[in-house]
Amino acid sequence: MESALTARDRVGVQDFVLLENFTSEAAFIENLRRRFRENLIYTYIGPVLVSVNPYRDLQIYSRQHMERYRGVSFYEVPPHLFAVADTVYRALRTERRDQAVMISGESGAGKTEATKRLLQFYAETCPAPERGGAVRDRLLQSNPVLEAFGNAKTLRNDNSSRFGKYMDVQFDFKEGAPVGGHILSYLLEKSRVVHQNHGERNFHVFYQLLEGGEEETLRRLGLERNPQSYLYLVKGQCAKVSSINDKNDWKVVRKALSVIDFTEDEVEDLLSIVASVLHLGNIHFAADEDSNAQVTTENQLKYLTRLLGVEGTTLREALTHRKIIAKGEELLSPLNLEQAAYARDALAKAVYSRTFTWLVRKINRSLASQDAESPSWRSTTVLGLLDIYGFEVFQHNSFEQFCINYCNEKLQQLFIELTLKSEQEEYEAEGIAWEPVQYFNNKIICDLVEEKFKGIISILDEECLRPGEATDLTFLEKLEDTIKHHPHFLTHKLADQKTRKSLDRGEFRLLHYAGEVTYSVTGFLDKNNDLLFRNLKETMCGSVNPIMAQCFDKSELSDKKRPETHISLGNRTRVDRVATQFKMSLLQLVEILRSKEPAYIRCIKPNDAKQPGRFDEVLIRHQVKYLGLMENLRVRRAGFAYRRKYEAFLQRYKSLCPETWPVWAGRPQDGVAVLVRHLGYKPEEYKMGRTKIFIRFPKTLFATEDSLEV
Ligand code: ATP
Ligand code: MG
Repeated sequence: MESALTARDRVGVQDFVLLENFTSEAAFIENLRRRFRENLIYTYIGPVLVSVNPYRDLQIYSRQHMERYRGVSFYEVPPHLFAVADTVYRALRTERRDQAVMISGESGAGKTEATKRLLQFYAETCPAPERGGAVRDRLLQSNPVLEAFGNAKTLRNDNSSRFGKYMDVQFDFKEGAPVGGHILSYLLEKSRVVHQNHGERNFHVFYQLLEGGEEETLRRLGLERNPQSYLYLVKGQCAKVSSINDKNDWKVVRKALSVIDFTEDEVEDLLSIVASVLHLGNIHFAADEDSNAQVTTENQLKYLTRLLGVEGTTLREALTHRKIIAKGEELLSPLNLEQAAYARDALAKAVYSRTFTWLVRKINRSLASQDAESPSWRSTTVLGLLDIYGFEVFQHNSFEQFCINYCNEKLQQLFIELTLKSEQEEYEAEGIAWEPVQYFNNKIICDLVEEKFKGIISILDEECLRPGEATDLTFLEKLEDTIKHHPHFLTHKLADQKTRKSLDRGEFRLLHYAGEVTYSVTGFLDKNNDLLFRNLKETMCGSVNPIMAQCFDKSELSDKKRPETHISLGNRTRVDRVATQFKMSLLQLVEILRSKEPAYIRCIKPNDAKQPGRFDEVLIRHQVKYLGLMENLRVRRAGFAYRRKYEAFLQRYKSLCPETWPVWAGRPQDGVAVLVRHLGYKPEEYKMGRTKIFIRFPKTLFATEDSLEV
């Protein structure tokens, strides 16, 4: 601690609670800046770790660093991710309570990197289990595979997570060794499979396979090396990214697949699917004399048929016709060019996203504890790691951003609730009066999105039940009619004259906790419906590719409740659509997190250029605001800036008082009482809790700290 305190003018304070002017945002940012300049990317707000992405390798995650942080007291060493990792692990072992590390921050802020470093810390420093040691490798190797299939280059981040991930690591009670794991994944951004914005890429795996796949493999898959040959890869016009080495990454993924128990056959089946998505993108149609679509790319169709393991004629028919069941009779209705392209893209998205879900299931089987039946299985504690897509604002925001930002809204709500609660609990446990803190509760925005009947998701679902009649615009009108005047909701029609100019008719704006986002309603109904024509499903259910066979289950076809066509949709059966499914999975996630002891890592992105050393103040101020860091600090500082266990406090400062030096024989609490009286602390400057001393102002502590130096 001394180096940071004595040199605080240069490197700032290592815990924001020690800022004299704790309500000043400028002081907060100045502290971050000083530390960032010195490559000190970590700072605390009490137990919360704030991290600024350095965009350079700081060499601070080595084995030596891990050792330095093992078993030491949180505040005795400079702030570090490993300090959090170790504290969480020790709490898990000593208190035997499940823990959850929640990592948040906007896209590119460093959440995924932090998750990986945490996992590495546990894999390297925890004892190996008596049996099933391979699980450590599997935990680590699941990452490159999931990133290959679930991450992509976006404008914000070259390795952006396009799915949410919550990973449980199970630890054996007695040994403290990792013995198993489980991953929950959330809503993959599947629209990326068929479309990428300018400057963005499709999921990494496509480029990795083309760059790194062996000649023999590519020949079997009918693929050319050049990504430019594939329509699904050229839309963003940036197949090559300087920070990414697809060839090397492919080697890593191939190795990882075998570690997580993929047989060679399974790898082949998986690659067949990846390749089939690329071939699907190259399927072209031409209109016949009746304007009906016909497949013109026979070669692609041939490869597709073989790789997907389906019937050629059935696939051709399914890509160009639609089966409708009316009054118990099946009718085949030909598709026009636009409809056929839509069907093709829907199939590509379904194939890819279902394969992703399958992959997670497969990884989970490999991570499952080896001794599922033994008693030691039952005595595990769980450490959860949450790495979800960060809050996102683009020039154009659609359904995907709506879901991602709603998710962040939900997690923010949990953060506020839990930090406030833990503060309150600590004060109560220590027998110190709690002074209530005013804070902004974003429940109002969560309700706006998720409330039954009146919430945006409910209204969207309602509109999805009116096929043929409802459009994205009628959805917008219904929003306007139902929500009307809400402080966090605005549309062109509802806005006043001045604001109206900044909104188009097809847009709605939400005032999120993190700021305003304007969403275009175009595509909302379609993406929420996520419709795959019945005959495409039937075709896929007949697949002999074992992975596809598991992804497309025949029971889907007989399930009367699933609306496949406009006509059967007419009976208004309720089916959970994409947004509602997402909402339910988030509610479940919140419950999982709530049941565990939370730890927080709040990541900040220093600049948009992805460059080291650049501290963009405007960008950072915005993040400090929306991550609620000032609020967090205010809660933490509500009464007292600093608190420390009596033992630790006495140990550090006992040399300042002749009565406590060199040894205090009595209770540490009594020693501290003697010590602070000797130091001249005034009664209003501190309080004595059951196990800790609470100090109201940083200056009191600094004065004590400075007297250590002389
Ligand atoms: P998204 O929400 O888009 O998934 P993210 O918060 O997960 O974003 P990361 O992928 O973790 O962001 O980080 C983006 C990039 O920043 C990394 O690829 C890496 O280059 C760099 N980076 C992040 N954290 C660190 C770190 N601690 N040290 C060095 N570089 C880092
Ligand atoms: Mg990420």
